[in-house]
Amino acid sequence: MFKKVLIANRGEIAVRIIRSCKELGIKTVAIHSVADVNSMHVKMADESICVGDSKSSESYLNIPAILTATEITGAEAIHPGYGFLSENFKFARILEEHNIAFIGPKSEHIKIMGDKVSARNIINKTGIPLVPGSDGPIKSLSDLKKNSENIGFPLIIKAAAGGGGKGMQVVKNKSDLENAYNLTKSEAKANFGNDEIYVEKFLQNPKHIEFQIFADNYQNVIHLGERDCSIQRRHQKLIEEAPAFDINQNEKEKVIKIIIKAMKEIKYRGAGTIEMLYENEKFYFIEMNTRIQVEHPVTEMITGIDIVSEQIKAAGGKKLSFKQKDITFRGHAIECRINAENPNNFVPSPGKVLTYHPPGGNGVRVDSCLYSGYEVVPYYDSLIGKLIVHAPTRLQAIERMKRSLAELVVEGIETTTSLHEKIISTSSFSNYEFNINWLESFLKK
Ligand code: ADP
Repeated sequence: MFKKVLIANRGEIAVRIIRSCKELGIKTVAIHSVADVNSMHVKMADESICVGDSKSSESYLNIPAILTATEITGAEAIHPGYGFLSENFKFARILEEHNIAFIGPKSEHIKIMGDKVSARNIINKTGIPLVPGSDGPIKSLSDLKKNSENIGFPLIIKAAAGGGGKGMQVVKNKSDLENAYNLTKSEAKANFGNDEIYVEKFLQNPKHIEFQIFADNYQNVIHLGERDCSIQRRHQKLIEEAPAFDINQNEKEKVIKIIIKAMKEIKYRGAGTIEMLYENEKFYFIEMNTRIQVEHPVTEMITGIDIVSEQIKAAGGKKLSFKQKDITFRGHAIECRINAENPNNFVPSPGKVLTYHPPGGNGVRVDSCLYSGYEVVPYYDSLIGKLIVHAPTRLQAIERMKRSLAELVVEGIETTTSLHEKIISTSSFSNYEFNINWLESFLKK
């Protein structure tokens, strides 16, 4: 096992990874930007090293500086967390070439799944059902028109290299095709440096259901069940839960079987998430994330498995120490993402946290990077913490979330806590009457 791991990330996920390393007896190195010198992850790690200026391009994405930090500190492995370099196959490949372990999949899998067109191709071959769409990239406007005749409207044009809910355009009718084509291509180029696009049928009322899988280096593949992440704003998740409620169990078992077989076939390693849309009792693949997800704690709560520890062990060459039959699913877990934002207009709210008091009690987990006196800086994502609850039933979990949100105190900055209180108090949420469009229409009321 590794003696020292460098965490190439910040915020709550860096704190989360340090916690697992400590429990495994592994020393940790925190990297940080100039702006993050007072961050929680820097305080918690055994060592820390500044890798550049506040802008993430100069620090958390600065590969030469991160490699230098690894060499100076003698770290043997790097955990990339989520975002930043976690899905950068070139970074993973550089580490492979320099004998530094990347705590994640092999670079070839990051590359295939990072390009949504090649991901659709390989997933299609494995038999996992896809959202109907183009066979490959869209080469021209006339190519898009031809595809739209087969797919029908509404459709969604997506950037092959897209992520974070960006680079997607819904087209309702034929007359809007040309504008949408030009817009998605130029946005894809500007945001992702790659203007390749493809097109899919736009499902009108699906739920977002995703499957957590895990594989060691020896083709032992297991699944840790599913999560419902349908509560979204602008295609980004706000609340997640596990297991999904009211899902056709036969279809679910069928899809899981195909996913496991597919992951064995491609010799996948590490944690992965197969994201799917679920409509009319059928699942459709949209993308695979080859990293730890923000919402992984809900799965940990119902399975008791520390996914980050498993990632570290798998990257260190350890065999999975359990089999599918050893995994049991207990109760229900819900996660609310707490952002430093105005809860009405979502404008970021950086600044000094004057008071921080996290909730506690039975079945409550807080993954956060806050402390009283901490200054939330304006340069990065506004996620400052996640509140996760676990209870025997979904309704009990909702009640536990209500009282935990009420206990959470963050003074000095604005947070999205009050919005979560509103959402989970609706009958739509408690009756599980929502899909990926529900939150947007709730916010308009
Ligand atoms: P990203 O990589 O940016 O997260 P995804 O492909 O995972 O993009 O999609 C994010 C969200 O966008 C989905 O959870 C869903 O809400 C919506 N979405 C994506 N594809 C479709 C589709 N074909 N039909 C309807 N909604 C979609």
